[in-house]
Order: sequence, then structure tokens, then C-alpha cells
Amino acid sequence: MRIDILFGGLSGRSSRGFLGWSSCALIMREHMVPVLFDTAGFNERAVLLRELAQRGIRPEDIGAVLLSHFHFDHAANYGLFKNAFYYLHEREIGHINDAKSQDAAVLREMYPHLQGSGRLRVLSGESGEVEGLRWVHTPGHTPGLFSLFLEYAGERWVLASDAVKHQSELIDGIATMTLDPAASAASIAKIKAYADIIVPGHDGLLRLERSDGDGGLLQPERANDHDSLLRPERVGESGVTRIYAVGRTTVEVTVYTSDPHAAHTVVLES
Ligand SMILES: [Zn+2]
Repeated sequence: MRIDILFGGLSGRSSRGFLGWSSCALIMREHMVPVLFDTAGFNERAVLLRELAQRGIRPEDIGAVLLSHFHFDHAANYGLFKNAFYYLHEREIGHINDAKSQDAAVLREMYPHLQGSGRLRVLSGESGEVEGLRWVHTPGHTPGLFSLFLEYAGERWVLASDAVKHQSELIDGIATMTLDPAASAASIAKIKAYADIIVPGHDGLLRLERSDGDGGLLQPERANDHDSLLRPERVGESGVTRIYAVGRTTVEVTVYTSDPHAAHTVVLES
């Protein structure tokens, strides 16, 4: 198996709303169809296709699209993959169809298309297997959000999507922008208890280190400027003593003016 991060996530908002740069992973296994975990947003559609093409993969080769939840920045591009089955959790479908919901990030208008495709497959319960991969219900951000818990290259990986949006949520164990803070906290704890490596929804790859044995009594130490320490009161909860970034996401933004030589470029990094 190979987990190939097509896009790392980046957290941020602008005066025009959320930037929506989410993570997106391609999972390749021998003798099995390629699987996508999330699809990024409309703004990244062309780049998503380019990333796949660079790996020799055509959209019609993708056999399954796992939609962690139905927000615009994760699910918008499922329709590119005409031969794929699309997977959503039943609680997410309930959320999409909830007329009282105030969640403006849901692609509600696209759902009839998804449902009418004949290719929607529904996950139910707390965990299971999808396309031979272990999924775990990790609600809070939305009611039906699910993550992948995978053993890969001798380590335990969680593709968390927005169950863990970024590093500070993992450190504090508390989510921002969640429909259910208690459920989010429980989901973060579940992920933290399992993972060596986490692919967050809006951050680069994170690594968790554990103390060996006595419940996290080791003192965290700062290895370099990119590392973050656990808040002291959180050390020991799951034996995790250190959480740090092992993969950064860089996005270059260029704004053109009337003079192309005067274009402004800013580089954003997670
Ligand atoms: Zn998101």
C-alpha cells in the first residue's frame, strides 16, 4: 500500500471567507483500484487532475472516492470520477437533508446529483471496512465525518480530515468550528490514542511520539523551531509526549496588477 498525499492542508481564512485548502490523499494498493480520500474544492479541480496525471492516473481509473464529509472544500470534485463508487456516512446524509441545519459549508445542492448517480454507497455504524480500508466514525465537525485508520509502513496512520483540522486542535484536544464540541473532543482523543502519523484536514503531516511505559512522564523537548510541545496538562492523557509537524504545506498566492511585473506573490506555509 502507498498513501500519497496529493494536497496537504492549510488552515486560514480571509475577509472573503475560508480558503478551503484541504488535504487529499490517493491510496494505491497492488491489484486494487486507486482510492481517493477526499477531493479538495472546485478551486483545485484542475490541479487535482494534474496531480493524478503526473502519477499516470486518469480520472476514470479511480475506483472509489471516500468522502469524509460533504463540505465544499473536501467533496466538490467527486463527480470527476465517473467509474468510482462514492462513500458517505449515513449520519452525513442526515445532516445534508436536515432542513434546520445552519451549516453553510454543506454542498446541499449537489446531493441530488450524488444520490442520482447510482454510485453512492452508505457507511453506517461506528467503524468498518470500506474497499478493504478501516474507517472510523469521528463526528463533531459534522455528524457523519469519518476517518481512515491504517497500518502503513510499520506505523499507524490516521487520515483524519476535519476531525483534526490542524496541529493546535490535536495538542489541546479541543476543536474549533465544530457542530458538537463534545463529540469533536472524543474524536480527537480516539485519533490521538491510535495514531503515530496524522493527516489533518487543514495542516501538513503530524507525528505523535509516546513515552514508553509510564503514561507520559517524560519531559517534552523541543528539537527545532518547527516543533510544538504539548501543553503540560495534556501530557500523559494518551501517553503522547510530543506532537510535531513532519510535512508542511506551502501555497504560493500571486495577485496580478495592471503591470504584470508588479504582481504580488505571497507564500503561505502551515
Ligand atoms: Zn475542511
